[in-house]
Amino acid sequence: MINDDDIRKVREATELVELVQETVVLKQRGREFWGRCPFHDEKTPSFKVDPRSQLYHCFGCHAGGDAYGYVMRTQNMEFLDAVRYLADRASITLTETQGSLQPGKKTRLLELMKASTEYYALQLLRSAEPGAKTARQYLSGRNMGLELAKRWQLGYAPGNAKLFDHLSSKGFTIQECLDANMVIKGQRGQTQDRFYERVMFPVADLQGRTIAFGGRVIGEMEPKDLNTSETLLFHKRETLYALDRAKAAITSGGTAIVVEGYTDTIAMHEAGFTNTVATLGTALTIQHLKLLNRFARKVIYLFDGDEAGKRAAVRAAELITEDITPEAGRFRVLLEVAELPPGTDPADLLAQKGSQALQEILDQSMPLIRYAIQQSLKTANLASPEGRHAALRSALQVLLPIRGSILANTYIADELAPQLGVEFSQALALFNSMQALRSTEQDSQESSQGKASNTNLQNELLILYIEHPETRKILAEAFERIAWDGEDLPKLAKALISADQKAESSELYALALDAAPAYAPVLSAKQRQAFTGSTTHHAYLLMYMLKESQLLNEIALAKIAYAKQASGDLADKLFQEISAKQSELATIREKLAKVPKTTL
Ligand SMILES: [Zn+2]
Repeated sequence: MINDDDIRKVREATELVELVQETVVLKQRGREFWGRCPFHDEKTPSFKVDPRSQLYHCFGCHAGGDAYGYVMRTQNMEFLDAVRYLADRASITLTETQGSLQPGKKTRLLELMKASTEYYALQLLRSAEPGAKTARQYLSGRNMGLELAKRWQLGYAPGNAKLFDHLSSKGFTIQECLDANMVIKGQRGQTQDRFYERVMFPVADLQGRTIAFGGRVIGEMEPKDLNTSETLLFHKRETLYALDRAKAAITSGGTAIVVEGYTDTIAMHEAGFTNTVATLGTALTIQHLKLLNRFARKVIYLFDGDEAGKRAAVRAAELITEDITPEAGRFRVLLEVAELPPGTDPADLLAQKGSQALQEILDQSMPLIRYAIQQSLKTANLASPEGRHAALRSALQVLLPIRGSILANTYIADELAPQLGVEFSQALALFNSMQALRSTEQDSQESSQGKASNTNLQNELLILYIEHPETRKILAEAFERIAWDGEDLPKLAKALISADQKAESSELYALALDAAPAYAPVLSAKQRQAFTGSTTHHAYLLMYMLKESQLLNEIALAKIAYAKQASGDLADKLFQEISAKQSELATIREKLAKVPKTTL
């Protein structure tokens, strides 16, 4: 994992022009750099790099993006690798939570986990303690005898700080035990084992080394399953149980099966489905898929057909992103889902009906997108036009994240439109309008942050105008061009500039309050503030700051739109708009730097 700060730092340390120049000959024209596009064949340069926005754009094939996007595309890398690549290039050391930064420490923790695995296994096999006996009974009651327990390195955690004592006797420090999350501090600061009275399932990395544990309760305690928290070794969103054992079978067959839980995984393997892995207390994530994608071409997500299972499937629908479309390129995985009969888990089904029954369920797996669409149509009333329209909307909702992809259009053309009896063009038009709405909602959320400070600057400008007659000449002209926020501010500005510029401050206050009575508290709170420094400088300062903040907002919005834009001409236009605003911003910032500092 790389933190956002580092990602930003690396981006800021990377000069896009220099980066591109490593592989493309760029010619400077004014402030811009042009060259032949590395992404399509061309004789005349239509590939432009804008040093101000730090974006590149091709007016021929419409490829575009920032430094990370450039590296991902030219070097065929995934995002995090692109960050690592550029960090290395900029000599920035990333503070990755997992990596080679602390080799000594990582080795120690791996040794500690190995010692814990052996200790727990020994407890399960040999201990005469009542708890260990119960654990053995628990396992044999679930078709897991001692031979199986040995093969899977299962164990028993007795608790009572017995593991801690054992690890201490092996020379591990308290801090190491805490860092591995095998030991925790109790409420009164005492040291205690994290796991007690549980059957232990070691979770291994790809090399088969224990990096975490899952503990299944054998009594009445909550929670039923307790996992190791995130540590230097273990990241649950990136770890799959039994992948170390399943990877060979996955590679040779091309398919991975994902279930939820250790016992189901073991039951699957024992029944011959040795390509099975499990998530660990989390839904399937895109990181899991990327990990599986190294070995599998197809992933079948097998879940219980009951309500909890359905919820898991709904969460899985969040995985419908551009990553699973044919356009995604290198990372592309076919994600399918298969539903077990309600109230059954894989272990039950295998025990009751055998592996053939499970194979039949796997054979009926279908692409996640089709499944999600079917779920969304289940409650629809297709008898009425209104019902069909509502059904169309909710099914299109599923496809929104992969808008513009061939996959989305294919689903609309081949499945949705015929099923619901609508024309493809109508469905597509609705889809596009839903998409437009969604973008506007997101954009307005992101731009609302800048709004408050804009409004404050506008308030200050109005007060300056009222209080300091010498600023009125400068400000009056600017007031006509400012995009005032809300309803009151434009009225106030208009009232002020239409009054005599030589009017007394008190007269202008009266006018202002007449124009916008609701604004009285803002105006009266501000009017008595003392002021030092030149008022005209202050007027310029406020105007430039306001302009700067407005430009930053507009650039942010345009960049979001640019990143989403699939069609060519609009992308070209947006890119030019960003470039123009960036250069306006640079001019404003130069002016800002020249204004002597003033204080209120
Ligand atoms: Zn191009």
